[in-house]
Amino acid sequence: MDLLIDVNIALDICAKRQPFYTSARDALALCQQQGGKLWLYTGSVQTLEYNLYSTLRRDQEANETQLSKRQLHAKCLALLATFAADKQWLAALAGEGNVFAADDPEDEQLIRALDRFAPGKIKLLTRDEPLLEAHSNKTLSPEAFIEQSLQNPSTPKFEFIDLKTQQNAIRPQLEQNIHRVLHHGTYIMGKEVDLLEAKLAAYTDARYCITVASGTEALLISLMALGVGVGDEVITTPFTFVATAEVIVLLGAKPVFVDIEPDTCNIDVRLIEAKITERTKAIMPVSLYGQPADMDEINALAAKYNLPVIEDAAQSFGATYKGKKSCHLSTIGCTSFFPSKPLGCYGDGGAIFTDDDDLYQACREIRIHGQSRRYYHTRVGVGGRMDTLQCAIVLAKLERFDWEVEQRIALGQRYNQLMDEAGVQRVQQRDDRTSVFAQYTVLVEHRSEVEARFREAVIPTAVHYPVPLNEQPAYQHLCCADCTPIAKEMAQRVMSLPMGADLIEKQQTLIAQTL
Ligand SMILES: *Cc1c(COP(=O)(O)O)cnc(C)c1O
Repeated sequence: MDLLIDVNIALDICAKRQPFYTSARDALALCQQQGGKLWLYTGSVQTLEYNLYSTLRRDQEANETQLSKRQLHAKCLALLATFAADKQWLAALAGEGNVFAADDPEDEQLIRALDRFAPGKIKLLTRDEPLLEAHSNKTLSPEAFIEQSLQNPSTPKFEFIDLKTQQNAIRPQLEQNIHRVLHHGTYIMGKEVDLLEAKLAAYTDARYCITVASGTEALLISLMALGVGVGDEVITTPFTFVATAEVIVLLGAKPVFVDIEPDTCNIDVRLIEAKITERTKAIMPVSLYGQPADMDEINALAAKYNLPVIEDAAQSFGATYKGKKSCHLSTIGCTSFFPSKPLGCYGDGGAIFTDDDDLYQACREIRIHGQSRRYYHTRVGVGGRMDTLQCAIVLAKLERFDWEVEQRIALGQRYNQLMDEAGVQRVQQRDDRTSVFAQYTVLVEHRSEVEARFREAVIPTAVHYPVPLNEQPAYQHLCCADCTPIAKEMAQRVMSLPMGADLIEKQQTLIAQTL
């Protein structure tokens, strides 16, 4: 459970007001120990400052110490800065300011702020008696909080992908970016869209980046820009998220499934050439689990047959291949900003990367209904824009992204070491590339039993993916189920473990032990 800290509690701690100091301090420490967050309301800043200064001045008079007004004020601010350092700031929202019908507007603001959280997930920590009485279901005294949490300690929940810790780390930047969009009001194609495209292009070293409504839309628009249509064939892997093949079928083309390598689970380049026909219009490898496929070999083969290559890099943004960034390894790279991807937004989003002028122009036009200028439609397009708010969110996330990639790689390597020590088989990574470990995936023999053990230990796991696409009801007529035997076998053995930049080593060790 989180706690919103009332001014009186903050003062108890900053001014070490006995007898309240000890219980206030213990309550906050206990909350943090149990994975809860401590919030300070931005609307309380002035009250805090004013009251702490007055308290310090009263104390000084009683003790007859002599600090100047200025020194005392500096001391007050230093105490507040130290106190706030490990707290979260809860922004005061517009609706919470309109509280003058209440007997105590300031208390009313705090109570209203609690309504933003799920019921019971936060309490106002206060020792204001009338407040405790009036809102007994929303407030707690330090003593009551300590008693309650010692009786039933809540252990921090194990997330499959922990997005909350990341949000805490970047929350000020997120709020700032979101509020900017609310104020300028250009919700579609606002300046954050251009800014994000420029930053992503620079990050991947691609000449162009076009943001789009999702990873799926990125793949669809890319195929449309390449002119893939009815009767064409696109070579891809059956061991991927359905979107990869879905967009091919939507355009009336046929996905031609090529089997995967058993160690990386990426498309097996040695099997591609045999599947190339006159109808082949593109090769679409997937950089599965965050690791690029054998792009050099695929590009060489494509060049031989004059085919474009689309990298489905929905899981691999941030990864590198021979020093180059994923998304900039072939004719076109497509990524997704689905929230759980290595670089995610808080909704749907995606991006297309290319160095090619014509493809850039085509993708830009197709994204906005095929228009070359307003209401002039040179080609058939889609409503495929990424909205300004989502771009603003990715911009905030980019600030910590380099650190996150480093962290993911280090955690992935540590997982590898733990698995190898324990004799657990796993997906392998090649030495000439990095994986951003969108998933950390092991190979097990009796998966349902292993999953059951993990459920007992309350550690989430997932399967990416349980059924290869050529065995899915909607796709099975497109390819014989048995012509990709490795994909079939892997679908029965893969199991993904909790992963993310904020996973801690202690959790990893626990996961390895459970396995
Ligand atoms: C997530 C994903 C997609 C689709 O991305 P969305 O943004 O969810 O549309 C496509 N391909 C792969 C490999 C993915 O993992």
